[in-house]
Amino acid sequence: MRLTSSGRHHAAFEFGDLRVVSLRDGYIDMSPTLLRDEHGCAFDVLPGAVPLVGGNLRLSVNAFFVTDGTRSVLVDTGASDAWHDPTMGLLHDALDEAGIDRAQITDVAITHRHVDHVSGLIAPDGSEAFAKLERVWIGAGDAPVFTGRLEPLRDRVVPVSEKAAINDWTTAVPAPGHTPGHTVYDITSGTGRLLVWGDTVHVPTLQFDRPNVAWEYDGDQPRARAARADLLEQLAQPRRFVAGAHLDSPGIARVAPAGDGYALEYLAPRIG
Ligand SMILES: [Zn+2]
Repeated sequence: MRLTSSGRHHAAFEFGDLRVVSLRDGYIDMSPTLLRDEHGCAFDVLPGAVPLVGGNLRLSVNAFFVTDGTRSVLVDTGASDAWHDPTMGLLHDALDEAGIDRAQITDVAITHRHVDHVSGLIAPDGSEAFAKLERVWIGAGDAPVFTGRLEPLRDRVVPVSEKAAINDWTTAVPAPGHTPGHTVYDITSGTGRLLVWGDTVHVPTLQFDRPNVAWEYDGDQPRARAARADLLEQLAQPRRFVAGAHLDSPGIARVAPAGDGYALEYLAPRIG
């Protein structure tokens, strides 16, 4: 995996025959009181060196576009204007900066139903963000999110309830816990495998070192913990890479065992 270009809102990588582009939708500041210890309790004192900005955790919000030149898939879509927060909703700028024509995107894979992942399917003016959209994969447990503003897309939703190939090099793998339909996307190239894992980790400065630490919005914390442990173990193998929605942008890294947890090694300097 080799960095080929980057800017304020994107970083592009050569990954065997594939091009992987990290797209920065923005960031969101959230309270450290949302962190949970292994018993589900908030911390009185934050463990380790967790950096705060104005007393909050600053979470990057990333989406990822992967293409072989013919087939492409966009994993997650950012928040658009759904969070009413001007620090997010920059996906279109990121696509423009990376030279990706959103009017040509036919396939979107959603990791889960939360607004910072699914809302970018609709542009702030209410129109569909991807005019040629043909398919939206999402875990079956999260498919009911396609109501209200997202209702017009319902006829193109492909619910995923078990491991499923969505193209020659992408497999959808259910990883429930954060939400009932939380799904990760395993991308295989000639040179390795990239796991686009959605919200498996929210606070990278803490949860690799201590994978037992959970997040209040993990709907089922024990299940989210188990999924995180399983995926981290898989990632700590040669030629495996992770792409995380809330890892520091651009959010593509290697994972190695370290002590009782794991260490994270980013493949490119931080953007944004
Ligand atoms: Zn999220």
